[in-house]
Amino acid sequence: MTDAGSPLHTLTLTQIADGLSRGDFSSREVTRACLDRIAAHDPALNAFITVTADEALAAADAADAKRAGGDTGVMLGLPMAHKDIFCTRGVKTSCGSRMLDDFVAPYDATVVERLAGAGIVMLGKTNMDEFAMGSSNESSFYGPVRNPWDRERSPGGSSGGSSAAVAARLVPAATGTDTGGSIRQPAALTGTVGLKPTYGRVSRYGMIAFASSLDQAGVITRSVADAALLLGVMAGFDERDSTSIEQPVPDYAAGLGESIDGLKVGIVRQHFDAGLDAGCAGAVREALAVLESRGATLTEVDLPNLDLSVPTYYVVAPAECSSNLSRFDGVRFGHRAEDPADLFDLYCRSRAEGFGAEVKRRIMTGTYVLSAGYYDAYYLKAQQVRQLISDDFRQAFEHVDLIAGPTSPTPAFRLGDKTDDPVTMYLNDIYTIGANLAGLPGLSVPCGLVDGLPVGLHLVGPHFAEQSLLRCGHQYQLETDWHRRCPNDYR
Ligand code: GLN
Repeated sequence: MTDAGSPLHTLTLTQIADGLSRGDFSSREVTRACLDRIAAHDPALNAFITVTADEALAAADAADAKRAGGDTGVMLGLPMAHKDIFCTRGVKTSCGSRMLDDFVAPYDATVVERLAGAGIVMLGKTNMDEFAMGSSNESSFYGPVRNPWDRERSPGGSSGGSSAAVAARLVPAATGTDTGGSIRQPAALTGTVGLKPTYGRVSRYGMIAFASSLDQAGVITRSVADAALLLGVMAGFDERDSTSIEQPVPDYAAGLGESIDGLKVGIVRQHFDAGLDAGCAGAVREALAVLESRGATLTEVDLPNLDLSVPTYYVVAPAECSSNLSRFDGVRFGHRAEDPADLFDLYCRSRAEGFGAEVKRRIMTGTYVLSAGYYDAYYLKAQQVRQLISDDFRQAFEHVDLIAGPTSPTPAFRLGDKTDDPVTMYLNDIYTIGANLAGLPGLSVPCGLVDGLPVGLHLVGPHFAEQSLLRCGHQYQLETDWHRRCPNDYR
């Protein structure tokens, strides 16, 4: 598509790449346009923790110089933002926490390094729930992010700064991380595309750990084609991450055009139960009909243990978090309390001051379920149920190629609505957590509006099925224009 006449901030990554290669504009111009958008709109949205304007313009100039010198790299000079969970050399990396408020990373995460190596220009670091624990972005030390569709509402979490920035056209794309739904749920709540790859597909090196067996890096974009473009660069083996998998990286963008005729799509019986908002259910059913009209066949499948995924996750994730976050003790890492009386006082006060309420809740739960008397009853049991949930998916994928359903049970909720009730907040991820427990790839694509608020269609595939997820999502976007809808105040 040629969009020579459109304002630069409205273009997708793919359109920017085309424009740059044609010489319609420079990387400096498009980077400047994004920085101007951030300056104009971020004060009301709070999507950014750090904006790296000078570094971005310098990187854009370097990209323009390379292009002038004959470099034709597709990603060269494309601007995007990174979630503030990824270490960025020389730039503050806070993880949304007071604990790391003054932490400047000494090295780049692999994801950041690979994207920069391909020519990506980093615009800044996006706001997030503290240590990625949350579904609404309200646990951030830097304050909540506002949803561009309705600023009284949450943009989802924990990658809510990334989702809000992409939805409001401040940036064409941003990285995110997904431990239980933190890419897909905020994408659904902001009308953007969210891709969580297979566990091990993208390196976790330099991504601050929350729950290491569940965490995975991915992206939030406006089109599926853009997600495919970015995944192609981010994916691949990294010897610095022991769980990264050595498997060739397909050309994701190349496979998008293939038809989904004959694709077997599973509809999970348990997905359309009483917990799902009626408007969301309607939008998702219409989306399924679109897939059917493009040749996909719909079959019902069962995930009998799905309702156990949230309780299982809230044992496994806190257990791993309590272990991972022990390094923030004011000595090795993180905020240090003033004038400690002794070492014990230093540990206690550094952690009491550095961590917020949700993080403390998780550390306490995690320490409890790992303690000698309760390990078997909680942690071990949760690991067994995790296996059952994985087995459910494996069995379902014997009959279907993909599973499709809602990403989130409701559209965006009001800020403050769920903060007093952690369990209601946790239930937000009921449809997404299963994929993390089983290590599967998931994709959320915008599929409707309910009372002016976006709804997401969730696709989950077998391990390493990113290509079919992306192809299905892209074919859906060829038929629909939900992903092109823009919140009123941000046109
Ligand atoms: N909302 C979930 C939680 O609070 C998932 C977060 C995530 O994926 N990082 O843990």
